[in-house]
Amino acid sequence: MRLKSLISISFLFSFFFITAQNDGGEKDGVRLIQVKDNIYMIEGKGGNIGLSFGNDGVFMIDDKFAEDSEDILKEIKKKDKNLVQFLINTHHHGDHTGGNANMKEAGATIVAHENVRKRLTESFKNASSKAEGDTRKLPTITFTEDMTFHYNGEEIMIFHVHDAHTDGDAIVYFTGSNVIHTGDVLFNGKYPFIDLDNGGSVMGSIRALEKIAMLADENTIIIPGHGNIASKNDLEATASMLSVLYRRVSYHYVNKKSEAEIIAMRDFTKRYDEKGFGNGFISTEKMLQTLYNDVKKSRGAIDKRTLEEQLQDKVRQQKEKLEKDKN
Ligand SMILES: [Zn+2]
Ligand SMILES: [Zn+2]
Repeated sequence: MRLKSLISISFLFSFFFITAQNDGGEKDGVRLIQVKDNIYMIEGKGGNIGLSFGNDGVFMIDDKFAEDSEDILKEIKKKDKNLVQFLINTHHHGDHTGGNANMKEAGATIVAHENVRKRLTESFKNASSKAEGDTRKLPTITFTEDMTFHYNGEEIMIFHVHDAHTDGDAIVYFTGSNVIHTGDVLFNGKYPFIDLDNGGSVMGSIRALEKIAMLADENTIIIPGHGNIASKNDLEATASMLSVLYRRVSYHYVNKKSEAEIIAMRDFTKRYDEKGFGNGFISTEKMLQTLYNDVKKSRGAIDKRTLEEQLQDKVRQQKEKLEKDKN
């Protein structure tokens, strides 16, 4: 469900993400880094890329921005001369799918949740340039719930988490290597961007983080959408941070605090702010704004009338009902 009133600001916000996300804390330049055994990652601006090398070929997760494709392919070639065979998009944002057309050109088959294809198709309508509206960006294979690749000597489970960062999120679990790529469901150690206009939600994000944490054990290596390599603890810390903040904002919302009042509050975010959660792409203010909008969406608009007015209204309704029953 999309609320028209929320679109204007959030549209600009998500458009910014589609075109040029860089949270400032991200390292410049693309560089292949070994995560564990045959699993690698590429950091740098845009979402973290995951890679599996092996006898079957090259399996890739996300592809940053179009302008990085050449460097990314160069890095991959250092390790394997073969083309990328499969490329998974964890969701539709441009910092994860920007290189799709180039990667397809270079031989990759793109796989994603069906909503990724839907959202990318929608974004073409607002495209301001030919490159932005390039239909070659679209995934070739889509799925609805989950799928498994039997590739490079292990089962790679891909599953959809509902209404989390967007409505098209996929989690990639290398079951043999015990490595999980979370896409943007996890911004490690930072407040996450939750794309309410594209089907994301705070509660969905919490549920998704908890689901991933259930699969993980103490040795699982987590590649987040943004930020450094993470552990099960980091997943749990983010889930708990989000539920604490969601509860606090809900409390203030039902107590009729305005959006501006809630956004100005820092008492309940303090312990996370001190850990640097607000130093990423999403500031404390933006996080509170997202929480407020999410709570408002689920609880409906606040009744701003005085208690007395509301009471009078209730009495009048009851009287009317009595009258009606009498007739
Ligand atoms: Zn991202
Ligand atoms: Zn994203």
